[in-house]
Amino acid sequence: MFRAIKLEKDGDATKAAITEVDEADLPEGDVTVRVGYSTLNYKDGLAITGSGPVVRKWPMVPGVDFSGVVEQSDNPAFKVGDKVVLNGWGVGEGHWGGLAELARVKGDWLVPLHAPFTLRDAMIIGTAGYTAMLCVMALEDYGITPDKGDVLVTGAAGGVGSIAVAILSKLGYRVVAMTGRPEEAEFLKDLGAAEVIGRGGYSEQGRPLAKERWAAAVDVVGGHVLANVCASLKYRGAVAACGLAGGMALPATVAPFILRGVALLGVDSVMLPQADRIKAWKRMSTDLDPRLLDKLVDTVAFEDVIEAAGRLMNGTQRGRVVVPIN
Ligand code: NDP
Repeated sequence: MFRAIKLEKDGDATKAAITEVDEADLPEGDVTVRVGYSTLNYKDGLAITGSGPVVRKWPMVPGVDFSGVVEQSDNPAFKVGDKVVLNGWGVGEGHWGGLAELARVKGDWLVPLHAPFTLRDAMIIGTAGYTAMLCVMALEDYGITPDKGDVLVTGAAGGVGSIAVAILSKLGYRVVAMTGRPEEAEFLKDLGAAEVIGRGGYSEQGRPLAKERWAAAVDVVGGHVLANVCASLKYRGAVAACGLAGGMALPATVAPFILRGVALLGVDSVMLPQADRIKAWKRMSTDLDPRLLDKLVDTVAFEDVIEAAGRLMNGTQRGRVVVPIN
């Protein structure tokens, strides 16, 4: 038997509880991992609180991320004792996830733990951090360089946002962090933000084109915020869009695209091919200052995860949550 957080459907609601689970009930997979650490991402918050349609099979063990040690393997790429990391692939949504002492998954979904990171570091980073890296890589691939001007990061005090601030500033960009929480200004400056601004009018319907302000942006919010970011990008600027914390809609016009040639770069971490994942983890080992990880983290005991998911959903959780498990 092992401990897991289990989600059950209760009418329209989701019931979340810590439960003892039989190892025989683990889903199919060729690698079994003793989970060392997991974490809470926005998507886990949605799943645990039932605030969004994340779970596709019931009952579900949430947790889109975990790091741990291989306990049993029928996959030639992994042997007992290997340290591994899992991000995404629908784990915690359609396949039991990382908020449990044991996880069984396809070996093809695992990446080896990348030096110099520890199992704990890998979960401070988690899907949020790895997605922040993908956003930065998308901007670089498009041709954005630090000399082009200020880069805006929205939802900056959250998981993706805070790590995006840290990476961009280490790479020499002048980063402007947008947050709805002015009390987090010092935290964001410690991560490397040159300037911290409020959401201003960005959360409301704006004009099709606004003053050209940003060379580039990383957006985790979507909705009006993303529309206003597009409207205020400089000529041939770009925004890497990865989130919907402020809404799924995109109430924008085509004006910024056809009059300023700006680019909206979509970023998905969940189904990204393995080679690109490894590239992103490798980049983080050089472009994310490991000394910042402890500033970013809030450690939450396994017993307190369900409560912490509520904090994540009401926007009062800062940075990254790490959940020690074994
Ligand atoms: P967090 O909850 O840690 O951070 C989200 C932040 O967004 C909050 O801290 C807050 O920042 C801001 N925010 C929340 N609600 C609103 C609102 N209504 N209007 C404006 N800003 C708001 O989540 P994560 O960082 O883990 O994830 C961020 C988003 O990215 C989520 O939508 C998530 O689903 C998505 N995501 C997508 C991935 C992909 O593969 N495409 C992978 C990982 C995440 P502040 O208080 O600083 O304003």
